[in-house]
Amino acid sequence: MKKRSFIGLILQVLVVVVFIMCLYLFTHDNQVKQVSQSSTSSTSSTSSVVASSKSSSQSSQNQKIDLPDVSSSDWELVLVNRNNIKEEMNPELAEVEGVQVDARIAENVTNFLAAARAIEPNEKLISGYRSVAYQQELYNSYVQQEIANDPSLTQEAAEEKVQTYSQPPGASEHQTGLAIDMSNVNSLNESNAEIVSQIKAIAPEYGFVLRFESDKQDSTGIGYEDWHYRYVGVESAKYMTEHNLSLEEYLNVLKENGK
Ligand SMILES: [Zn+2]
Repeated sequence: MKKRSFIGLILQVLVVVVFIMCLYLFTHDNQVKQVSQSSTSSTSSTSSVVASSKSSSQSSQNQKIDLPDVSSSDWELVLVNRNNIKEEMNPELAEVEGVQVDARIAENVTNFLAAARAIEPNEKLISGYRSVAYQQELYNSYVQQEIANDPSLTQEAAEEKVQTYSQPPGASEHQTGLAIDMSNVNSLNESNAEIVSQIKAIAPEYGFVLRFESDKQDSTGIGYEDWHYRYVGVESAKYMTEHNLSLEEYLNVLKENGK
């Protein structure tokens, strides 16, 4: 008699535990669904990162697990843009086919250029390192050109126009020595899209990413450029490509994960 009531008690406890577990799973599942729905409906850059994975909780976990072993303060990941103006950086330089780059990436540039030529033999380096002083000259000359083309433009309007294709001194990534312009033609965005797409696809193997993608203008502040590649290191380049992240977005993910 005693034994039977003891078993009965255990069964009752089990039923209650199973019931609580079902209740928890049901409500938890609904919460995850709500979160992932809200992130897909949002258009901000950070939530599009989240929305690219199946659910928000899963994506942040995945990003933590498979993030490369790098730090947002690594030299390869230095951020220069209009919100991150830098003084002259004076990197140690090396020359690749007449174009100066940071000496630490000269070999990567050489190998990337050779691989690009296997796709399109006319690929060449258009630009590499540019000092802040030279960028100043370049920028001023573009502004003068715009005003010469349209004398009704104010200085401010001319600068605004120039900033769609050239950066003010201190805001150009070319001063890092980690950026190259590489194309088979001399003009921006006039290369064959199929060639660009093939070269872009092999870039991460050499540590490069096509830096200014058309769908990333919100985070980079710069329109599409088919020739501007940025060295970020092989692991980071692969991660950024796989997760469709601009450098700005990638640095945010690293910082969110304490890196
Ligand atoms: Zn460039």
